[in-house]
Amino acid sequence: MFRILKKTFDTGLVTIDYPDAPPRLSENFRGAPRFHLANWHDARPAAEACPTGALSIRDYGGIREVTMDYGLCIFCGECGAADQSGAVQMTREFELAVRDKANLVLTAQYDVSFDGTQQHLRQLHRGLQPVEQDTAALELKVHQAIHQTLGRSLAIREVDAGSCNGCEVEIVALNNPVYDLERLGIHFVASPRHADMLLVTGPVTRNMELALLKTYRATPEPKVVVAVGACGISGGIFGRNYATVGAVDQVVPVDVFIPGCPPRPHALLHGILLALGRIAEKQLPL
Ligand code: SF4
Repeated sequence: MFRILKKTFDTGLVTIDYPDAPPRLSENFRGAPRFHLANWHDARPAAEACPTGALSIRDYGGIREVTMDYGLCIFCGECGAADQSGAVQMTREFELAVRDKANLVLTAQYDVSFDGTQQHLRQLHRGLQPVEQDTAALELKVHQAIHQTLGRSLAIREVDAGSCNGCEVEIVALNNPVYDLERLGIHFVASPRHADMLLVTGPVTRNMELALLKTYRATPEPKVVVAVGACGISGGIFGRNYATVGAVDQVVPVDVFIPGCPPRPHALLHGILLALGRIAEKQLPL
């Protein structure tokens, strides 16, 4: 027993302060890719290297449309490695959760010259705005926000609707001493009847479609649904096929989408807090 106590004192405090303080990310952490669109002269190598189709190009009538879908991106870094111009950079951004899936898609149109390179940028539809920080929950201290919203702790039911368990590994980490979700007044519950929020990982398999729907119906109002990871947002590399329905929002309404493959615990926490603001909105009298 003394050995355990000594070890505890030697180890010291390991619990992080996020979101009250910025996180300390590991050296090797890789976040979302960003693009210097105005100076990008050839998107073809990066698009060809993208294994998921998140980054794609379409040429028509002398115009090239470059589309980046962060809902499909697995943050693998292949686009950055393939692009020699420096227009693609892997960042350490992880606060990427959005309420509107359309905000995860960025589209740029270029004139194309005879050698296939891009000339000036004609039009830009910029998705993934810095972060949808439109909720008071992200500005207030979290436990305060939860208390103000619910008057008690926030209960989450996790639903694995067909994931590879990558997202589950990160979700389980939220309960370890480093992330210690319960310090914020957030805990996981076993029954959807006791839950305020469903945290759903996907892609939704056809075997889990009805189970997800029943879980959603069993959750009391006002409830929110958070789709976790590339598969939950878009079906990921599985898409829609004989075995999977695809994205979570094909089955139940989704309030917040958290990109990543899998999203790291900080990213999950950020998305959960964004969804907390959504619960507050749903509680407002009409
Ligand atoms: S990081 Fe990987 S998945 Fe994302 S756009 Fe680049 S190549 Fe595609």
